[in-house]
Amino acid sequence: MKIYNKNELNNYSLSLTYDDISLVPTEVSKIKSRTEATTNTTFLNKKLSLPVVSSPMDTVTGLEMAKELTNLGCMGILNRFDSSLEKLTNGNNNFDGVVSVAIGLNAPENLIQKLSERNLIICIDTANANNRTVLKKCEQIKSKYNVKIIVGNIAHGATLKQLVDAGADAVRIGIGGGSVCTTSIQTGIGIGQVSSLLDVYFAKEKENLDIELIADGGIKHPGDVVKAMALGADVVMLGRMLAGTREAPGEVIKYNDQLWKKYRGSASFGVKMKNEFIEGEETMIPYKGHVKDVIDSISDGLRSAMSYMDRITIPELQGTETFAILSNSSYLERLPKK
Ligand code: IMP
Repeated sequence: MKIYNKNELNNYSLSLTYDDISLVPTEVSKIKSRTEATTNTTFLNKKLSLPVVSSPMDTVTGLEMAKELTNLGCMGILNRFDSSLEKLTNGNNNFDGVVSVAIGLNAPENLIQKLSERNLIICIDTANANNRTVLKKCEQIKSKYNVKIIVGNIAHGATLKQLVDAGADAVRIGIGGGSVCTTSIQTGIGIGQVSSLLDVYFAKEKENLDIELIADGGIKHPGDVVKAMALGADVVMLGRMLAGTREAPGEVIKYNDQLWKKYRGSASFGVKMKNEFIEGEETMIPYKGHVKDVIDSISDGLRSAMSYMDRITIPELQGTETFAILSNSSYLERLPKK
């Protein structure tokens, strides 16, 4: 079996996603216990104790989720539909704890001004960052305010320099890979999440660009978080993994003797409420309880992987160069059997 480094993985003939690859420990680890590994990192000048950011979706990040993730050392990005944003422009101070907010392309100027006054990170929440209107919006905000800006999404590194020139500080990588996303089915656009991430990673390296990378979409388990970080992401963005928790917006629904919460795409009919082009689905997921339990499981998985791989810090993990490509049956063999 061949062990691939990142460059070889990037040059692989087919597009790859998380289930296609695996990490291969090739050194004797000096780490005695996974508690020795530290998952601390910095993202857009904010100190995090875990490289996890929540997706700005209306069934994932409301005020409660944003604040709890800050408490847990992660970052929540408040969704742009949240009613508290209107209150913020009217002087509401109940924003302590929130560090990042998503806006649409038509966000009012006074909202952007309020967000910058509070030193909040702004996420321009669109499906396609490779769009002149998005780049202009980014440029315009950067020319007026001293704020950090996240743009998205992209699936390839070809335009990364243009995003950086427009002032983007971080970019969401991944088109078509989200668990409630129907973009690829509806439009035929998008490649595997691993290949997207690697292509952008190498564009950044090659052109020496100053931009942080967010692996966004398709992350289903703690192991996928580890893979994304080992491939060179600065943080991961999670939708489904955080949806269905107590802190996610929305009611707990009892159905068939089980508790559920709604999870829906930002471009689903439920969000758009009009007959625009729909590129997202709506689903119910089992209620998961406190988001802290999900975050703890990610933290445990990450630390355990770091101890297997002899990586004591996140930058060491990001430097991983030992990957395997799994055959379909190797992938299936890895799954627990009933
Ligand atoms: P998940 O973690 O796999 O559920 O993916 C979450 C990501 O899916 C988000 O952060 C977005 O990038 C993406 N996404 C959210 N809503 C939609 C949609 O309606 N259509 C396409 N992609 C979406």
